[in-house]
Amino acid sequence: MTNSICPACGAPVTAGGACLDHFHALLVLEGRFPGAPGSIRHFYAVACYNLQHPDSVGLTAEALEGLRRNLADALDGKASVVELHRRTRLATDGPIRVRRRSGDPPVDWYCGPGPVNVTDALTGTAAAYPDLVEAWAAAYALRSIPWPAMLC
Ligand SMILES: [Zn+2]
Repeated sequence: MTNSICPACGAPVTAGGACLDHFHALLVLEGRFPGAPGSIRHFYAVACYNLQHPDSVGLTAEALEGLRRNLADALDGKASVVELHRRTRLATDGPIRVRRRSGDPPVDWYCGPGPVNVTDALTGTAAAYPDLVEAWAAAYALRSIPWPAMLC
């Protein structure tokens, strides 16, 4: 039973549920698909969910921008999974803060229903999952082109 719509991405949310439940279900589903966990498609799913939910994931504006840049580079074939891991290690090394502190104001970041969200990827079978997640990433990357102008 759908009770509401996630204001961050437009996914239907059941009564008593949360959009994050969809993401957890997606990770479970992905775990059933050979080669998906740890793949570039896993990165696409995690990046898209995080970028679509800037308030609930609590990342800093710098971390969100780094994630957006990595998503764009991955889609353009400029960053492999290995390169993404390297970049993430560098970006999170030492005292670098990637999560906002309690009480920090929300970041200026685009949010709102889009053409693709986590529930679209949840419809996937092992054969369809790669295309669904890539479509999610591509749709989100296209929305990110005028990024600074698209604020919450
Ligand atoms: Zn959502």
